[in-house]
Amino acid sequence: MARTVFVNGEYLPESEGKISIFDRGFLFADGVYEVTAVVNGKLVDYGPHMERLERSLKELRIDWPCTKDELLAMHLEMVKRNDLKEGIIYMQVTRGAADRTFNFPKESKPTLIAFTQVMNLVNNPNATTGVRVVTIPDIRWARRDIKSVMLLAPVLGKQEAYEKGATEGWMVEDGFITEGTSSNAYIVKDGKVITRELSNSILAGCTRRALFRLASEEGIEIVERKFTAEEAYAADEAFLTSASQFVMPIIEIDGKRIGGGQPGPVVRKLREIFLEEAGK
Ligand code: PMP
Repeated sequence: MARTVFVNGEYLPESEGKISIFDRGFLFADGVYEVTAVVNGKLVDYGPHMERLERSLKELRIDWPCTKDELLAMHLEMVKRNDLKEGIIYMQVTRGAADRTFNFPKESKPTLIAFTQVMNLVNNPNATTGVRVVTIPDIRWARRDIKSVMLLAPVLGKQEAYEKGATEGWMVEDGFITEGTSSNAYIVKDGKVITRELSNSILAGCTRRALFRLASEEGIEIVERKFTAEEAYAADEAFLTSASQFVMPIIEIDGKRIGGGQPGPVVRKLREIFLEEAGK
């Protein structure tokens, strides 16, 4: 069944969803995005995603394309029209279409598009086996706190990871892991979860935020600090989080086995409690 997509106020068959070749998202990556998971036909962490969207738009001085109520209604309508039980809704806002100038055009209206993708999020087989990651240099710009569509470095990084037999690249800057190409990075040592503190160097993950809340309810301590690849090699467990992977165990980093090559107890518990909440 062809999907129904959303383009600037209209619900259309996917083959009819089109934007201008002058769109600044296309010409300059002048836009921001959000990816919201859907489980049992319900949006997961929608509020935090929209808070982050608001911040990204403000940082780039792009106007809201519609009201917040309209945006929520659009997400719900997309779930309904696509009969989406489990998967993601991708939405993107750009500064819109105008004659090509680097500075902001005087008259451009933001572009808003959205589409759905069916995905196996809850019973993702990778979560049972755990995944491999490799470290790669972080070649991104200095404002990684903005969820911009300028994703060439993550595209190259993820491809490099795949070509090395891994599913994620952990990026390294000044000797420390920043984050994954499309996820936040964590290690576990002596029962404590360690993850980098928030700054302009990483994206404030919505799944990270949910994890902090759930871990504290569960009495699992999280320490926010930088860590190196060497420290990660010696960790008891490692994992990543993102809206589409939830809490994903890592069993190998740069070819070195973590926790005997099996998902460990802390990550399994954290995934379990995340899924419990997401399914509600
Ligand atoms: N860091 C980066 C660079 C990402 O692209 C993502 C995924 N959007 C994340 C972290 C995780 O964020 P979230 O949990 O909101 O998906």
